Amino acid sequence: MLHALPAQVARPAYDRTQLQPGIVHIGPGAFHRAHQAAFIDTLLHDDPRWAITAIALRSRDTTDTLRAQDGLFTLKTLGPGSWTRVIGAIRDAFSAQDDPSGALTALGAPATRLITLTITEKGYCLDGNGQLDLSHPDIVHDIARPDAPRSAIGWLVAGLARRKAAGTPPPVVMSCDNLTDNGSRLREAVVRLARQSDTGLAGWIERHTLFPRTMVDSITPASDPAFLDALESELGTRDDAAVCREVFTSWVIENLDCEPVAALGRAGAVLTSDVRGHALAKLRVLNGAHSALAWMGLALGYQRVSEAISDDWLGARIAEMIGQEILPGLAPVQGLDPDAYAQGVLARFANPAISHKLSQIAWDSSQKLPVRLLGTVADNLQAGRPVVHLARAAAAWMRFVVRAAREGSALTDPLQETLLVAGRDCTGDPAGDTARFLEMEQVFPPGLARNPDFRSALSRGYGDILKLERGLRP
Ligand code: NAD
Repeated sequence: MLHALPAQVARPAYDRTQLQPGIVHIGPGAFHRAHQAAFIDTLLHDDPRWAITAIALRSRDTTDTLRAQDGLFTLKTLGPGSWTRVIGAIRDAFSAQDDPSGALTALGAPATRLITLTITEKGYCLDGNGQLDLSHPDIVHDIARPDAPRSAIGWLVAGLARRKAAGTPPPVVMSCDNLTDNGSRLREAVVRLARQSDTGLAGWIERHTLFPRTMVDSITPASDPAFLDALESELGTRDDAAVCREVFTSWVIENLDCEPVAALGRAGAVLTSDVRGHALAKLRVLNGAHSALAWMGLALGYQRVSEAISDDWLGARIAEMIGQEILPGLAPVQGLDPDAYAQGVLARFANPAISHKLSQIAWDSSQKLPVRLLGTVADNLQAGRPVVHLARAAAAWMRFVVRAAREGSALTDPLQETLLVAGRDCTGDPAGDTARFLEMEQVFPPGLARNPDFRSALSRGYGDILKLERGLRP
């Protein structure tokens, strides 16, 4: 693959035969390949001990493709200052379903000093309070069969059990997903699951395993056939594992005193004691606005992020939502200028070179709405700040569900069945329809669902979205 590439495509300048495994990554989707793998590729030029073993728990498509390409894939950035580069950081890739003992061996190997995850929000099997959901089918399974896990949390517990049994130190375990306080959530989930079968193991994990918080940021759309075809013309070869992202990339990691975190700092990650502040700003500003844009943009008939943000009315409402309802509730964060950050986010959304589908951002919305927007809503209500734009965005999500139910289309969402039933029952009456959704405790905390100010803002917002669907601007 490498020899035939055009000269302008950068490629690993290190000897891949000398790489040693140091990281196990669970969930090698587009984001991992576009973000973390690029940081590690940089690190490997100086230190060969951090090669990635990529393990998929669900679909084997990506790992099969990566294996067929010896782990190599192309990363193309889009927009001003773009470049194309072959990433060599993934040394091995396989599916845990195909090779469960290989997965356990990799997770339990003393050489594995860092385990990272990008498994999407739902992969953590958390309940509405952010705790491991002991009634989740995968967790029920893993409690009964800790030796043959299904969930990512179960795999982590099984790998850590191996380390404890062998008397080797645990790896650092790092969530790179968009979860509030991702390190603490992951730690609590792993300890809670371990406690169900082995309290000694749970205590050992609590005492010895570090779960640094992280904030990851780089807009990475799914690699669609149009991108892969265009890249094939550019490279003269087909790369089905190729990914694209914007040029901007950021990885902020809690500055815990351990070898993997120091190594990631050398690779370009920002190490800080205030990851929570950075992560909350990103979750509420970038992710919150992204979701709001997706639901409202789809109501207006747009397909892509850059089109939706360029709609004068919608672009102005998203900017107001950030400026009036999100930024005022954020505590100061060292090294972050909130206004400049917000402007930067809006400019990044408008990058026409990134073909990011609104429908993709709308996947798993029932999981995203609570973490991206409802926390801000709750804070604003308590502080007497407005929730007009935030409630309209939540109402746009409800209408997104109602339209799917009417059209008979599927939803990519763990609550699909419940949502479609609710959507089918909706009649177009703002108060009645929003009340149906507010009954879903998995999405709306009961206290918030009962709040009269939120309920009336939601009804008004719902009416606005009905107008948008008819091509009118409220
Ligand atoms: P993707 O669909 O390409 O990959 C998702 C990965 O998660 C796949 O490897 C899949 O097998 C795995 N997965 C899904 N459900 C799982 C489950 N229940 N248990 C275990 N693994 C599971 O998506 P992506 O673009 O790689 O995004 C993944 C995550 O990365 C996001 O959910 C988000 O938390 C984070 N992220 C993405 C972006 C972005 O722009 N794409 C930006 C910042 C952060």
